[in-house]
Amino acid sequence: MPSWRPGACHSLPVTPERKARHKEKTMLGSMMQMPLLISSLLMHAERHHPEQEIVSRRVEGDLHRTTYRELAGRARRMANALTAHGLKMSDRIGTLAWNGYRHLELYYAVSGSGAVLHTINPRLHPDQIVYLADHAENTILFFDLTFLPIVEAIAPRVKTIKAFVAMTDAAHMPAGSAIPNLLCYEDLIAEGAPEFDWPQFDENTASSLCYTSGTTGNPKGALYSHRSTLLHTLSAALPDALNCSAGDCILPVVPMFHVNAWGIPYVACMVGAKLVFPGAGLDGKSLHDLFEAEGVTMAAGVPTVWQGLLAHMQANNLGFSTMRRTVIGGSACPPAMIEAFEKTYKVHVVHAWGMTELSPLGTICSFKFKHKELSVDQQLALQARQGRVLFGIDMKIVAPDGGEVAWDGLQTGDLQVRGHWVIDGYFKGEGNNPLVRGWFPTGDVAKIDADGYMQITDRSKDVIKSGGEWIGSIDLENIAMAHPAVAMAACIAARHPKWDERPLLVVMKKPGMDVTRDELIKFYEGRVARWWTPDDVVFVDSIPLGATGKMQKNKLREQFRDYKLPTA
Ligand code: AMP
Repeated sequence: MPSWRPGACHSLPVTPERKARHKEKTMLGSMMQMPLLISSLLMHAERHHPEQEIVSRRVEGDLHRTTYRELAGRARRMANALTAHGLKMSDRIGTLAWNGYRHLELYYAVSGSGAVLHTINPRLHPDQIVYLADHAENTILFFDLTFLPIVEAIAPRVKTIKAFVAMTDAAHMPAGSAIPNLLCYEDLIAEGAPEFDWPQFDENTASSLCYTSGTTGNPKGALYSHRSTLLHTLSAALPDALNCSAGDCILPVVPMFHVNAWGIPYVACMVGAKLVFPGAGLDGKSLHDLFEAEGVTMAAGVPTVWQGLLAHMQANNLGFSTMRRTVIGGSACPPAMIEAFEKTYKVHVVHAWGMTELSPLGTICSFKFKHKELSVDQQLALQARQGRVLFGIDMKIVAPDGGEVAWDGLQTGDLQVRGHWVIDGYFKGEGNNPLVRGWFPTGDVAKIDADGYMQITDRSKDVIKSGGEWIGSIDLENIAMAHPAVAMAACIAARHPKWDERPLLVVMKKPGMDVTRDELIKFYEGRVARWWTPDDVVFVDSIPLGATGKMQKNKLREQFRDYKLPTA
């Protein structure tokens, strides 16, 4: 365990008095001062990688090709058009959009102008979208045509939106829509003048806003700054993190409407990588076709997306020609999936952990020098962990009394983090002060080994407490997922008169495959301590997924609240 103590290196607040004293007594470095602004990423890409391609599958149905030069030109035009329509610093501009070049233009046009890009998850219920647009006080809402029905439903209800912009050209504008102040994206681009000097301002200015998933209560906003985003970008691109370069072709399946697609829209500009956007086509076939046609070398997404892709590839006996690695996170990547990618498809899996409150990357699993000596199976076991912190983030695990838990790879505790891109409060002060002595409590339960590899064992609210001892539901789910007939598995606590709670396994089978309750229970033999073995298995047609593709265990707990275990 490191020798520092919590709070030992807290920086003091920078007051005008301290600044003045610092100037008097300390020699300052004579280096240029340039604020860390998102627009600098775009300017760099335009100047140094102008010809690099950006390919997008559009909702209009075709494949669109552009370059970083055109991206920068169109972002300037959009910034001009928005300014002409009254855009001011710190206005919140909403988007309901897939991954595509127009969404990328807005990432730069809006934040680059000093306004705040509020990406809204279109999979949320319209009531929640109304809540988010009102809470953020959005003034303009951009939307892909797919989401026209949502916009028609919310337009009469939202309080602050003055204009709605359909992200399409004049030929595809919806006819006869009742949406008030409906504008056309390509008309705005055409009317915006091509010259625009990206304004220079304080790097701590807010740049974008993303709300937490909010499984209980209303979602809360994480308001990122230019500085936090730039530092996240620099660290995320490093070899032990996403490992991105100008030689890469990156396909982010992870949506730009949730935590900035894990920072890839910024990282790609910084390194000059080719970008491929899948639009709405997230099924296995659409993704595989795009990987092969565009020479994708790296992708990123949540486990549920990769499940669809692997099933498609298995069924059609396909492989990858150019794919080298895939980043998997958002929820625990089952070891069986890591093994399939590594052994069958020769694609390296990079397991990552993060949160909306971290914009989002916190840890990434990459090997240290000594791990190169490990056998393939030992390496696979390591990859099932969520990995080491990126520089810029620190973490610790704490016991219920607040004391730090040793990094022995055995003991679990509540995971807390702090760093350059961790929130220090929610937007508009929701939820009061979330920090505990300067650290952000993640709500995850984890263990950390002596090499600093963190492994999530549970969400604190998903932990199963049997006879006073914790049972890690993620471990039990991973074992079930290794069974060839299991498509998805969730492990939840069921009431037990003696042990208080016992694990109940909820399973969705793969189409055309069969497995019985007893076979699955037997599957745990030798894989886990006997008292961890689930007491029962129930089979369901589907497991509810939230708007970001995570299993909604709270819904399952509700559904099986009165479930009577055979051992009870
Ligand atoms: P969100 O803010 O919606 O992105 O959700 C963040 C939460 O997702 C984390 O606090 C974890 O509970 C979970 N999560 C993210 N990545 C992983 C991972 N690789 N393994 C396990 N849980 C994860």
